[in-house]
Parts: sequence; C-alpha cells; structure tokens
Amino acid sequence: MNDSENRNELVRIGLARLQSTQNREPRGLSGDPEADRYLKDIQNYPHIYVLACLMDKQIKAERAWLIPFEVCSHFGAFTMQELANLSAGQIESYFLEYKPHRFNKDMARVFYEGIQRIHTVYADDASRIWSDTPSSAAVVYRFLQFAGAGIKIATMATNILVREYHVPLRDYYSIDISPDLQVKRIFYRTGLVENTDDVNLIIYKARELYPIFPGVIDESCWEIGRTYCRPTDPNCAECPLADTCQKILD
Ligand code: SF4
Repeated sequence: MNDSENRNELVRIGLARLQSTQNREPRGLSGDPEADRYLKDIQNYPHIYVLACLMDKQIKAERAWLIPFEVCSHFGAFTMQELANLSAGQIESYFLEYKPHRFNKDMARVFYEGIQRIHTVYADDASRIWSDTPSSAAVVYRFLQFAGAGIKIATMATNILVREYHVPLRDYYSIDISPDLQVKRIFYRTGLVENTDDVNLIIYKARELYPIFPGVIDESCWEIGRTYCRPTDPNCAECPLADTCQKILD
C-alpha cells in the first residue's frame, strides 16, 4: 500500500471539512433540537457543553450529549448559578431514578464535581477553559483536571471546540485523533494499522500523518465512515480512498 497517498487523502478530506465548517453553525450533537439549541450556544451555556463531554463515556454519544439538558430541564436550572446550588444528593437521586447513563452512581458524581469545578475554578464561566487562546496542550490539560475525564474525553472535547465551534487556539499539536469504532474500522481496512487492539497504534499513526493537527483526521473518518466505509456493505467503488486502500474487510 502506498501510505503517503492514503495519508494525503485522509488529511485532505479532514482539512476540507474543517474549512467547510467555518461559516456554518455547529452541527447538532444530541439529535434533539431543543438540547442542541443549548449545546450550540457556548457563548451563554459553555458549561452544558463541558458537562456533556464529561458524560460521553461508554454509551452512545447522542445519549451522552442529551444528559445535561435533561438534568437542567428536570431541575429548571440552566445557568451555572442555578446548577451550583444543586447538592450532590439531588444530582445522585436524579441519576439513580431516571438512569440517563450506564454508570449512574459514578456519573452523578462526575456531573456534580464538574459543576463545582466550573463554579470554583472558572467562576461559573466554563468558557475560561479556552477563551484565553491557550495552546492545545493547555486546553486538553484543563479538561483532564475534571473528575472522570480521561485523555479520550479531553482530546475529543478540545477537538470539537476547534472543529465545530471554531474556537481559536495557539496550536493544534496536542489534539489527537479519538479512536472510536469508525476511526478503528477505517484505519484497519485501509491498512494504516495492522490491528486495532492497541489504540496507541492509531494515535501515533495519525500523528505521523499530520503532526500539526492529528485530530483533523477524525473528520475524514467521520465523512468516509458515514458515506462509504460502513460496517457492512462498504461502497468501495465510490470511496475517495479506493485507489490506495488495502480493503481489508475480514
Ligand atoms: S469503503 Fe472501501 S475503499 Fe473506502 S476505506 Fe472502506 S474499505 Fe477502503
């Protein structure tokens, strides 16, 4: 396989998509128009974006993105001042009764501690995580400081801020690719990695392909995975990677 040809196409598609999003509003993340209205408004509700990112763990992303909206609606608390008044017990009771997540006790704590961190460290304004045009490493680090946020959530949160919300950062080096199922499928089928058992293989391959912003390849994989490289019945005939892809379909 000619690795460099594949590299150029994946990076090219990712950069083209990034460019094409510059003049449009963020895409809906939850699939629910009302919840998306809050998620898209990071000027006024940046905390809802941050809390949604923290929920994105081992459940479908659309479900996770809905949770802050559901909690805020339940308590009639959409502002940080209102949310910060909720006790840990109130939030835990909500999670245990309505079961919005797979791990409700743990995620209730993550949700509560997320609110309290935004309240105490960022003075109720979650946009301070990214508003001082920091380096990508600084933003990833600030997300990592939240309870429950591992490197996957921290890089995904930073990547979406750049790709969908056009938040300017000083650099993009530390925004790694997020090896979700779609990314794994395309990296494996194209022959970019020999296996997907170790996500570090994908992370470092993406760094090799585009060191200045490895996470931009998330966009390419999203586009190709949704349109051509579906889990079953891939449309190789029309796929832009067809000429260089190894088409490993076992
Ligand atoms: S659709 Fe076919 S050509 Fe395109 S990435 Fe998937 S396996 Fe490769």
